[in-house]
Amino acid sequence: MRPHFAAVIGDPVRRSLSPAIFRAFSLRLDRPLHYRAVTLEPGRLAEALGRAPSLPWLGWNVTIPFKVRILPLLDRVEGEALAAGAVNVVRFEHGRRIGYNTDAEGFLAPLRRMGVALRGKKALVLGAGGAARAVLAALRVEEAELRVLNRSRASAEELGRAFGAAAGTLDEAGRLAAEADLVVNATPLGQGGEGSPLPPGTRFKKGALAYDLVYRPARTPFLAAAEQAGARTLGGLAMLVAQATATWRIWFGAAPPPAMQGEVLRELEGTLA
Ligand code: NDP
Repeated sequence: MRPHFAAVIGDPVRRSLSPAIFRAFSLRLDRPLHYRAVTLEPGRLAEALGRAPSLPWLGWNVTIPFKVRILPLLDRVEGEALAAGAVNVVRFEHGRRIGYNTDAEGFLAPLRRMGVALRGKKALVLGAGGAARAVLAALRVEEAELRVLNRSRASAEELGRAFGAAAGTLDEAGRLAAEADLVVNATPLGQGGEGSPLPPGTRFKKGALAYDLVYRPARTPFLAAAEQAGARTLGGLAMLVAQATATWRIWFGAAPPPAMQGEVLRELEGTLA
């Protein structure tokens, strides 16, 4: 079978787990796929996308800092990506660049497996980048009550208007986390084990869930503090595997079966532990 070529494009991507996930699916499904992590300087996205259709790419995953700025450079943007205002998957088809978003679906998949009901629940999203957009788009569909806090107020307010969310800065995170049913860290704080978007001693509501999109380390300072305060916790690895599963479906037409997704998740958990 002819091998396919794909990559995750971003900066930084050196420590991305996406190549390991796609390698695992490729081996198990006997679908030859060469998948690499490609570091691209922020100013070179348009040039790389312009050249891509003449090269044998099947698709790209797109990550920090390109998820939003790639939109106007694509030939077509599909519904979920338009709703989120962010693209994390590109499929190259007959010289055309088509953008998708699988982060929203990936974000919800672990919550569905845990049986978390979101309708009317207070959701607090920390961060206002590409990932936060997908999270807010997903939570809006689930009819949660939305609030977004960010380091820079202007981006929080922009997302607030776009998604019907109350908006503010991270200075308010400690107080508002204590009132929320779901607190999502959609900032990179905690990557490499350093930093948290919440101040020390933050309280959580009884039964609240702390969901960190950061997946390395498995137990971030945000999750450790939430656990100590009695909250339930969920790390970002399950989302990463779920969005990769949806990406596979876009590129190859069918998603890897659920049992295989679970197997790959456990395999990766083992490497992060
Ligand atoms: P972006 O660069 O688009 O956005 C980053 C956001 O975090 C911005 O709101 C930014 O605030 C804020 N931020 C960055 N640095 C700091 C800091 N030092 N202190 C406070 N706030 C900060 O990134 P993404 O939205 O694409 O990704 C965010 C995180 O989510 C990353 O760690 C990424 O790896 C993770 N992720 C995980 C996924 C998964 O499947 N588990 C999927 C997608 C993302 P400001 O606007 O002020 O700059």
